[in-house]
Amino acid sequence: MTPGRKAKKPAGGARLLNHTTKEGLSMSTVAYQCPCCGAPLEYGAQSGKLECRACSNSYELDAIEAMHASEETGGIQFDMPTESFGAQEAAQMQAYICQGCGAELMTEETTTATQCPYCGSPTILPERIEGGVKPELVIPFTVSKEAAQQEFETYFKGKKLLPNVFLNSRNRIAEMRRLYVPYWLFDCSASGSATYDAQKRRVRREGDWEITETEHYLVSRSGAMDFSAIPVDGSEKLDNKITESLEPYDMSAAVAFAPAVLAGALADHADVKSADCEARARERVQSSMEQALRSTVTGYSTVNTRRQSFHAEGGKVTPVLMPVWLITTVKEGTTYTFAINGQTGKLTCDVPADGKKSFLWGGGVFAGVFALLCALMAAAGMLAGGTLLIAAIIALIAGVITVSVLTGQLKQAAHAGGAGDYIVKDSFRLSGRKDYYLHTTRTRRKIEKKPDSQPGK
Ligand SMILES: [Zn+2]
Ligand SMILES: [Zn+2]
Repeated sequence: MTPGRKAKKPAGGARLLNHTTKEGLSMSTVAYQCPCCGAPLEYGAQSGKLECRACSNSYELDAIEAMHASEETGGIQFDMPTESFGAQEAAQMQAYICQGCGAELMTEETTTATQCPYCGSPTILPERIEGGVKPELVIPFTVSKEAAQQEFETYFKGKKLLPNVFLNSRNRIAEMRRLYVPYWLFDCSASGSATYDAQKRRVRREGDWEITETEHYLVSRSGAMDFSAIPVDGSEKLDNKITESLEPYDMSAAVAFAPAVLAGALADHADVKSADCEARARERVQSSMEQALRSTVTGYSTVNTRRQSFHAEGGKVTPVLMPVWLITTVKEGTTYTFAINGQTGKLTCDVPADGKKSFLWGGGVFAGVFALLCALMAAAGMLAGGTLLIAAIIALIAGVITVSVLTGQLKQAAHAGGAGDYIVKDSFRLSGRKDYYLHTTRTRRKIEKKPDSQPGK
């Protein structure tokens, strides 16, 4: 029994009683506390409700039960694929190990690998194909090397906050390498439930008093939705931020895996443990479920989540290879990655904004806007302490907006929010929807009469 979080929670929470009360109700052995005042609730045979003698509020059984429902830590289980390469396929393939960064790579037998796609090292030694999960599907490259190079070239134009050390990175354009990145695609049917503490607030005026009436509600929602092909990258060498920023891929263009598909490119082995990838898929599913359930709670002034739980069934995982053009560049001991989606041409990177340039741009815009506003106010004869402060705030906002717009141009990699792109269309079913009114609280505040305020209203 976990008592929920309450504003006025009396010590002790709900506790077990040793005697049974009414008609064998499932919750009758538990003493519940009044959500309004904390006094113990009693079952009223006449009303069929739980009643509070102290404050004379009464509550529906379902509402109080929902409020105290135990926390379910439901997980999402996925069946991980285990199919490995057959003897014939293994014979048509060649594995390599990079001596520079340790990447384990593979391609078909006639492709000669000369360079590691991750670190550019030329010392990549042949290995035998053994173990490893066999990819089921591959999305072939549709963005040509020339098109990817053009995308990369264009990137360097007009990027005001790009650190100077990157300006000559475009010299590495010839070193753009094609890589098939391993992803796991997660399918599942997720269901979830959530309860919320919600309030409707009304403010009215009675004479010299401002009265605030707050109606308290317990809101519960449950629903389900299906997800299809949420991608999580299985490569240890690529940050999830990079691979999530390359999304989405169009899976309808995928073909069945065959060694020949890899001709002319290297593919990375899926080396991130499936459990780690599962955790990321689960986060994204939960985040989408949370958003979907929460979006059905409307009409309240405030809504706070009290409890939520999620489950998934039919979890299925498909190993796939996605096409990525990669350029890595080492600056001051750190490796930076530029990546281009080999199907859509979308570019992302982990290049940071230049601190000094950000400061100069932000500061410059601030000074310019502030000077302009001051000049305008001086001309209008409005220059005073208060108006100066307002001008400074406006100028500051302009500076911050400028820096964030310029930073946005850098196309920095970021984590994807939920799994919104992978919800099966119209699959969201709201199975439970209850809004229980609990009680109303009132507060009042004396309205201060300002000497110069306008009378009436
Ligand atoms: Zn009470
Ligand atoms: Zn390497």
